[in-house]
Amino acid sequence: MAYIGIDVGGTNLVAGLVNDQGAILKKASRPVDKSMSDRDLCRELASLAEEARLAGGLSREGIQAVGVGIPGLVDNKTGVVVMTANMPFRNTPLRELFQREWDVPVYLGNDANCAALGEYWAGSAKGCSPTVMITLGTGIGGGMVVDGKLFTGFANSGMEVGHMVTRPGGLTCGCGNQGCWEQYGSATGLIRMTREAMEQNPDSLLWQVCGGDLEKVQGRTPFQAAKEGDKTALEVLEAYRQELALGLISLVNVLQPEVICMGGGVSNADDELLLTPLTELVKKGSFDKTMPTRLVRASLGNDAGVVGAALLCNSL
Ligand SMILES: [Zn+2]
Repeated sequence: MAYIGIDVGGTNLVAGLVNDQGAILKKASRPVDKSMSDRDLCRELASLAEEARLAGGLSREGIQAVGVGIPGLVDNKTGVVVMTANMPFRNTPLRELFQREWDVPVYLGNDANCAALGEYWAGSAKGCSPTVMITLGTGIGGGMVVDGKLFTGFANSGMEVGHMVTRPGGLTCGCGNQGCWEQYGSATGLIRMTREAMEQNPDSLLWQVCGGDLEKVQGRTPFQAAKEGDKTALEVLEAYRQELALGLISLVNVLQPEVICMGGGVSNADDELLLTPLTELVKKGSFDKTMPTRLVRASLGNDAGVVGAALLCNSL
């Protein structure tokens, strides 16, 4: 049996033909046409799913289900995309609109949840329960899989780990609260901390790494300078790991996952600059000092969302 998973991103739509082991057999993608309405986009998703199916030479009957991962709040019971921050979906009956083009079972998931499912079924968290996945990007996305099933809370918006308040009275978050974890622990937070440190340390190698331009600082910048032994970069990373640890310690104490899987560009850093010292910090701060939870790097990259969306039908 085969499944189709679609990852709906702000810039690209990617569909993958996926087998029941979570391997991607074929892929199709298109850039997002920003002029499209939510209804146009639903038709576009159906057409992209068809493209992935045909690439694999399968008939419609050969596809068990289609799953769609959306950057926003979805209700799989009703098949509606409730809202998205950066796309035109708002109370959009995606399942119904999709099925007008192709009458196949359609499942909806949040993109961070789909990434968690992908890593659980086929990535570095394979078979681990509970698996918590955090994605360090513009914000911090979160998802949890327990015994193969996605945990999304009572009304689908659970596991918004990025909005745990770790710095009361701190920076104002897009959600309206102050001091949310993602203001400090996301790639955005790391970039801000790096820029602040650069302004105070005009001699730091960080300036060379980004060509003397604060605007060119990326999540990888402090890691690059730290590898050369730059003191300012090492200090930035130490402070960043402290911020990450604050949220991770709470996740470990409340949920005790078997694995916390970390994704997003920042997670590709060398172990000695991120995962190894971070694991020590979390262990030190956790209630259970034996720290049975392992921190691991995500292994599927952007494919996690496609695999997880495809296997939503087995995971809800
Ligand atoms: Zn927030």
